[in-house]
Amino acid sequence: MRRTPYELTACPVCGSKEAVEVADRDAIVRERERLWEFHDRRLREGIPPARLMDRVAFSQEPPLRLVRCLECAHIYRNPREREEALGAAYERDAPEPDVLQKLFDTQREAYAAQASRLKDVAGESGRGLEVGSYAGGFLAAARDAGWDFQGADISERAAAFSERNGFVVTCGSIDKVIAARPLDAVAIWNTFEQLYDSRAAVTAARTLLRKGGTFVVRVPSGRFYERWRTRLDGPLSGVAERLLAHNNLLTFPYQQGFSRRSLDVLLSERGFQVVRVFGDTLVPIADEWTTLIGRAEERIVKRLEILLQHGWHAPWVEVYARAI
Ligand SMILES: [Zn+2]
Repeated sequence: MRRTPYELTACPVCGSKEAVEVADRDAIVRERERLWEFHDRRLREGIPPARLMDRVAFSQEPPLRLVRCLECAHIYRNPREREEALGAAYERDAPEPDVLQKLFDTQREAYAAQASRLKDVAGESGRGLEVGSYAGGFLAAARDAGWDFQGADISERAAAFSERNGFVVTCGSIDKVIAARPLDAVAIWNTFEQLYDSRAAVTAARTLLRKGGTFVVRVPSGRFYERWRTRLDGPLSGVAERLLAHNNLLTFPYQQGFSRRSLDVLLSERGFQVVRVFGDTLVPIADEWTTLIGRAEERIVKRLEILLQHGWHAPWVEVYARAI
């Protein structure tokens, strides 16, 4: 008999089985319809299918069902995809080099801000690892900022692309990375919420870091998603839809949504102390296929969010922790 690609799970952070439902399958299907309509209004005609990637067609399918842990407020899929099903989704969807080049160009500038924040916490220079380096935008931004970062990515195509750009990239997950001496920083900007086993990844990061080294993860706020999705049908419907869609949170195409408590539990039990929390929006997703109005709207929405939504009230949160 063939195994289904799904399995039931306890909370992937604290192990509790006590949870409440956040969204069932019908609710997610309705979000998916709204997401298509949202982008349909903002994209020019004739957009090539590949460019829809990471906008309406994500590497991962929307969840069957989302729940919130009653112990640590973590949001997770239950049932969730089995480990082998997750890896297969990524390799299948790794884009062609010309799409990676486009992502590299779009994201390099946005990552300069992250490289600068990392320097504030971790120092002017050092050696680091970025897990989930993908097109290599951050590796380049870190090099521009004076840091020497190597990458790791489970996509062979993405790893090969970055190597051609002059970076050292391990093809595989964090436990495949070998460092000659302890690192000063480990960053997981955009894939931590997609990992099957985030506990093992944190343990691996601690092993790679020197004492006092910096570990930073950038994650979607489960609290933000839950709070705004409940407003999708009320008087704030238009606001809620924009806040969620411009931040790639509508349909929640992630494995996990973090809370202050769940991330604190995850890090403090594995040798880290949180030293800084920075609330942010998603990197810009508009490009030449987005209508002018669509682009302007995204800019305005994200500027307002940066003014008004701080720390764990923001859609995306960067959490900096020190190895102790
Ligand atoms: Zn939990």
